[in-house]
Order: sequence, then C-alpha cells, then structure tokens
Amino acid sequence: MAEACPAPLYLVGGSVRDFLCGLPMERADWDLASPCTEEGFIAAAKGAGFAVKAVYPRTGTVKIENGAGIACEFTRFRRDEYREGVHAPVSVEFTDDIAVDARRRDFCCNAVYYDILGGEFLDPLGGIEDMRRRILRTVAPAERVFGEDGLRLLRLARQAAQTGFSPDEECLTGAKRHCTLIRDIVPERVYHELILLLHADEKTGDGKAPYRGLCILKETGVLAEILPELTLGDGMEQNAKFHDHDVLEHSLRAVLYAAPSVRLAALLHDVGKPYCLLRNGRYYGHEIEGGRIARDILTRLKAPTAVIERVTLLVRLHMRDLDLQMKESKVRRELIEYYPFLDEFFAVKQADFSACKDVMTEAPVVTKWKAVMEAMKREGVPFTLKELAVNGRDVQNAGVPAERTAEILHALLLGCALDGRKNEREQLLRRAKQLAEE
Ligand code: ATP
Ligand code: MG
Repeated sequence: MAEACPAPLYLVGGSVRDFLCGLPMERADWDLASPCTEEGFIAAAKGAGFAVKAVYPRTGTVKIENGAGIACEFTRFRRDEYREGVHAPVSVEFTDDIAVDARRRDFCCNAVYYDILGGEFLDPLGGIEDMRRRILRTVAPAERVFGEDGLRLLRLARQAAQTGFSPDEECLTGAKRHCTLIRDIVPERVYHELILLLHADEKTGDGKAPYRGLCILKETGVLAEILPELTLGDGMEQNAKFHDHDVLEHSLRAVLYAAPSVRLAALLHDVGKPYCLLRNGRYYGHEIEGGRIARDILTRLKAPTAVIERVTLLVRLHMRDLDLQMKESKVRRELIEYYPFLDEFFAVKQADFSACKDVMTEAPVVTKWKAVMEAMKREGVPFTLKELAVNGRDVQNAGVPAERTAEILHALLLGCALDGRKNEREQLLRRAKQLAEE
C-alpha cells in the first residue's frame, strides 16, 4: 500500500510506541498518517485489497479493513483548531509538515512516525527520548493540550497505566486545571476508557497498572467528575481494627487486588458507604445502597445491561457472611442460588479482604464457602437445574402447571442443598406434586 501512496505513508501512534518500547504488538488498530489526500490514500488502500469502511473528509480520516481482519485508520497531516468545551476540532487545516501534524496529537511518545517505505523513524518532538525516560509529555503546553479536548484526560491516565510511563509535572498540572472538560465526553466513551484502564495491565503484565491509572484519575480530579459518588469516600475514615485505608483508597486498592473480571465491581463495591455515612451516620446497609448507586452510575455511563446487572449483584452480595456467622445450611442454599456468579463473588470477596490491610492470604469467608462447596460436590448436591434428576417436562407430566414450573424446579434444587441423596427422580416428583398443591 505504501508503494502506491502518492506521498510517504507513516505508521504513528500506539503501534510505533509499543514497538519501540518492546510492548506486545498484537493489536487490532494501526494508525497511519501521510501528507497525501484521502483520495490518494484510498486508491492505494484499495489496490492493496482493503475495503473502505468510513471516510470523514473534514478531518481527512479514512478507515479501512481487509479480509484478514487488519483495520487501519488513516489521517491526513493536519493542524486542528479547538474551541474550549468542544471535543471535536472546530476547524482543520491540512499540511505537508510532519512537525505540525505531530503538534495536534496528545503526547510526544504518540507522535513518532515510522516511514513504511523508507524504513526509518521520524521523531519531530523527541518522543523516543520520552519513551526512554518513561514519561508522558504533551506535544504543546499541557495547559493548551488538555484545554482543547477532554478525552485527553482519560487517555493520559489510561496510557500511563498501559505503558507504565509517568506523566510529567506539567502534564498533571494541565490536566488538573482542565479536569471539568471531561463533562464534554459522551458517557459511552468515558466507560470505554475506564474499562481499558481497568485492564491496563494486559500490555505490560504489571498488575499495579489499573491502580496507578486510577490514582492519576484521582490526582487530576477526573475521578471526582466521572465517579463523584466514589470520591466522596476520600478521607472518610474506617474502623482501624479492620482497615488501613479510607473508603476511597480502599476501593482503589480493591481494584489492585481484583481479578480482571471483577475490577469494576471491586471499584464500586463500597460506593454505598459515603452515602450511608452522610445520611445515617454509619456504614450499615451500604451494600444495598451501593447496589442501587452502582446501577445508577453504570446506567449513566451507558454500560451494557449485562455488566450493570452483574456488578449490581456483586456489590449487593459483597458483605455476605463477612463475620463468618452464617449457618452452613444457608451458605449451602446461597451457593446454589448464586452458583453462576461464584467465581466472581469469591474474587470480589478476596479483593475486598486484601484491600483492607494489604494482605494476600485467602479471605476467611472464601475459605469457608469453598470448603462447603467442596463438601456439597462430594455429596453429589446439584448446583444447576441441568444436574437435577428431573426436568420441566417431568414435573409438568406429574401435574405441575406450566406457569409454576420454573419456581418449583428451583425449589427442588434448593431442597437438595443439605442432602445430595434427595436428587432422585421419584422423590423429586413426589415433592413437586406436593409443592404444586400447596
Ligand atoms: P492505542 O491504539 O494503543 O489505544 P493510540 O495512542 O494509538 O493507543 P489511538 O486512539 O489509536 O491511540 O490514536 C492514534 C493516535 O492519534 C494517538 O497516538 C495520538 O497521536 C492521536 N490521538 C488520538 N486521540 C487523540 C486525542 N484525543 N487528542 C490528540 N491526539 C489524539
Ligand atoms: Mg492506535
């Protein structure tokens, strides 16, 4: 494609940065740039077997994809003009000058160009030296860079986390000064960036990465903008017998100790605490309020419905049997009730426990519940309807009305919690009839 392009074609952005830093390159997006026009690029791309997915003439952007699933985003060299409070540039001027294009980007390490045909790197702003020093530095005065586009606030924290680089002082000051510009960014994008941040360890394998990213969001004031319910817990003391950290720091550390699949739930697990303390003077019941608040937050951020439901449930459940006083019979029923979520439930419990005093031993409640679960498995207790010795048709043939089938099957399943031997066809059918008559 580069051969057919009427002007030099460059790779830029994440792929060049990650390559030069030795970070994994298995990526879905390749960012291309050139002084050539969109038309010139499109002809070259089509010749190389790519299909054009989208063209945005105003910014000189073209999205292409080939049959092998390689996707690229081309942007023509340009200078952007912004009006404060508007995420997209208000005017765009195309240019042949690579240094001008570099200065419309965000960080210098994202403005290193690889000349595909020439086989050399062009580094108009010293981005390679920044990578060596492992810093994030803005391409122009940070005041201006962050004042232009609120999305850069999230990119700062997310990319710092993903690369392990530290924002320089000027960067942090500029971001702090403009943290309210995050309000211009659509919630879907905020959510998307937050999720990327919570999985920022994928590239470097540094498990602290998501926590570091959250600390940058906190320090720049962006966290208080996007999750004000959570940052109310900043400085909110907790019982020192159980906790080394205030409510907010405990929540951030829960992410540090959480398995990837539950980081969002870990972040929000105590979001009900500030609300309860401010309203009732105590934290009692915070998991219930927390479930409600987590749902509100995730709805506001337009998270997928399945995520909202799962996180809400995990937040509501996170206090279960914390004092280890729950009777085994109840634990058994709950293990069946929440069986599809148990891995995540245990992971949240563990994250919460570890974040209290930064201890890595297994949470006692996890040890207890896992032992009960193992015992149940040994006894042949069914955990799912699939494992139950009767199905919907069986109980209906035994006289259970269709509209009560689900409820009665569920009751039969729970009825086996204490004794796996009850999972026997004839017994279950007798019980089903009894239940139907009640
Ligand atoms: P990755 O693809 O690994 O997430 P990236 O840095 O390539 O990171 P992209 O969103 O693909 O991020 O953007 C490509 C490049 O475009 C960036 O490296 C940066 O130079 C520029 N860029 C993207 N978004 C912005 C923005 N909001 N403001 C300024 N420059 C941006
Ligand atoms: Mg990219």
